[in-house]
Amino acid sequence: MAVPFRRTSKKVKRTRRAHFKLGMPGVTQCSNCGEMKLAHRVCKACGTYKGEEVISVEVAE
Ligand SMILES: [Zn+2]
Repeated sequence: MAVPFRRTSKKVKRTRRAHFKLGMPGVTQCSNCGEMKLAHRVCKACGTYKGEEVISVEVAE
């Protein structure tokens, strides 16, 4: 296994890690109510998925 010739400086290490960011998970707009929702998941606000009602929202209230 190759061994690093020089220790990575603090600056180089920190500059490299400046690109490590938290990404937003796939968030899309609901086609039924327009609310922001996670892609490929049932909409929390109206309980629909692909235009079909899967969960009745009225029960939760
Ligand atoms: Zn919705």
